[in-house]
Amino acid sequence: MKYFLLPLGCQMNRSDTERVRTVLHGMGFTETDKEEEATILGVIACSVRQKGIDKVYSRILKWNEMKQNHNCITFVSGCILPADRERFVKLFDLVFTMNELPDLPDMIRQYGVFIPMKNDDSSNTNDVETRIIASVPNSISKAPYINKVVNPSANMDRFWVINPDHLSDFEAFIPIQNGCNKFCTYCAVPYTRGREVSRKSEDIINELKELVEKGYKSITLLGQNVNSYGLDKKGEEINFAELLRRIGAYGDASGKEFWVYFTSPHPRDMSDEVIEVISQYKCLGKQIHLPIQSGDDNMLQRMNRKHTLDDYRHIIHTIRRLLPEATIFTDIIVGFTGETEEEFENSRKAMEEFKYNMAYIAQYSVRPGAVASSWADDVPKAKKRERYHILTDELMKHSLVYNQGLIGKTQKVLVTGYDRKNGYLTGHTEGKIVIRFQSRDKNLIGQIVTVKVTSATALSIEGILL
Ligand code: SF4
Repeated sequence: MKYFLLPLGCQMNRSDTERVRTVLHGMGFTETDKEEEATILGVIACSVRQKGIDKVYSRILKWNEMKQNHNCITFVSGCILPADRERFVKLFDLVFTMNELPDLPDMIRQYGVFIPMKNDDSSNTNDVETRIIASVPNSISKAPYINKVVNPSANMDRFWVINPDHLSDFEAFIPIQNGCNKFCTYCAVPYTRGREVSRKSEDIINELKELVEKGYKSITLLGQNVNSYGLDKKGEEINFAELLRRIGAYGDASGKEFWVYFTSPHPRDMSDEVIEVISQYKCLGKQIHLPIQSGDDNMLQRMNRKHTLDDYRHIIHTIRRLLPEATIFTDIIVGFTGETEEEFENSRKAMEEFKYNMAYIAQYSVRPGAVASSWADDVPKAKKRERYHILTDELMKHSLVYNQGLIGKTQKVLVTGYDRKNGYLTGHTEGKIVIRFQSRDKNLIGQIVTVKVTSATALSIEGILL
């Protein structure tokens, strides 16, 4: 029996999907990329943009069509706004929050579906199929399981304790926290994922140790507000800097080569101590992703970011002082409600000042459920596009200078796969600069190798394998 999963959105959803896979595999299902073969069809939804939710609707309409001549169960989980949830329960067979994932086998049993887990006798396969076909309802209006959970962050330990079935055997994510208390006005995450809850540090470190023992080379600690880790359990749990310190001490003593990253931090919780700790341990990746969102104080206030440009500047200066080799990435929004020419110009100046290696530049679009969704989206599309291009040019200017400065130097590179150019492999440096080099040796994929940089563009570098 097979399942088909459609993860949408960010790395957190990708990470959640790995635990969903574990539960389905534990029930005896195997994965397929062909929807028409699957008995279980699931979406891990993303509500960050309306586009993501539109994809969920188009998929469930297709699946419900398929139900006319194909027996299957559909589910949706992930980031879902309360209003969408109301609609989804009428369309999907199962709607649940991630903290209820351990109950998925029971939810499926409510349909009377035979779960093949205990059936080791492969000669009974036909019998199993017959029983499924007999028991899965066709009716799309039947939703025997509707969860009533109002706090999607409650009991997250039940979810985290599930061993993820990783999609890669050299790169992995470890969720360390769920939810967000920041309530940025453009973002719906606090409403879809609930309030911040930190995972037990002991469990995080154990999961990391297992990955390192298995030979993982890139491990990313994940949270919507990753560096506020521990703040919800003050006095009971360590803080983010201490978590990194313990990971760093273990990693450097292990004698293994790997890099630990984290995403996404909030400038408000980015202490000097965090940066000091990163500077002290080799295994803590020298790459910092620090969202700025805007370079203008008035705008930051309208976004409810709870920090000023000067606070942000202090962090960047501390990074440059303590981690001179670190690359810095950011997220920035153009065309947020009411953005004036002057406010935008302050964002451009900030990009010029901070000389990012990479910036994810978003043209603002209304995120349903967020506070700003009731505000006018009053910057014309053409203006947003123009501002996007101005910031992109600013980024390219600085990233090109940085990348050209690497020519002639050697870099440690994690090889991640084949490049589009035939005969080349691709990967990234510790600072997550994309690099390619000539080789057809697929055994290098998943390994850290040394490459001498020979040429550079604004977005990537090229080199020779040493
Ligand atoms: S910090 Fe702001 S942008 Fe990030 S998840 Fe929380 S509310 Fe959303």
